[in-house]
Amino acid sequence: MATKSTTPVSVAPAVAPAVAPAVTGKFTGIAGVCGVCGKPISPNNQTGIGSTCRGHMGKVGAYYVVATQQPTAPAYMPLTALCNLAQTLGVSRGYAVKLTGGDAGTRAPTHKVFTIYAYTQNGKLRKYVLAAAAQALTNLVQTGKLPA
Ligand SMILES: [Zn+2]
Repeated sequence: MATKSTTPVSVAPAVAPAVAPAVTGKFTGIAGVCGVCGKPISPNNQTGIGSTCRGHMGKVGAYYVVATQQPTAPAYMPLTALCNLAQTLGVSRGYAVKLTGGDAGTRAPTHKVFTIYAYTQNGKLRKYVLAAAAQALTNLVQTGKLPA
């Protein structure tokens, strides 16, 4: 004869991990992969974070100016537009990014005209520079001179 189980379905209680990871990141816990950026790191790396990301920790965007309203033309231009201009001028996109203090904003801009204005829109960080950065970049590439 069939008996109906009366054992209640048990739901495992949510249990916090016994040991919180030292540093959290989207890929934390995968051996040989940086927990911040996901790039390969040495399997012997005990921290789970690559040296570049470790160097950036706490410094990303340190030199950004946080914009509470979206920076718009004519006073501002997107960083991508400055990168496009760099290519038009015959230098790399990275050349323009370096002038602003690097990809992660961990270094001071080469000149204040290349300061990044960071604006978060729909959870995405958007980077702008002063429109004057276009002329400054052009001058720099063509004459080697930064604005005074
Ligand atoms: Zn990394």
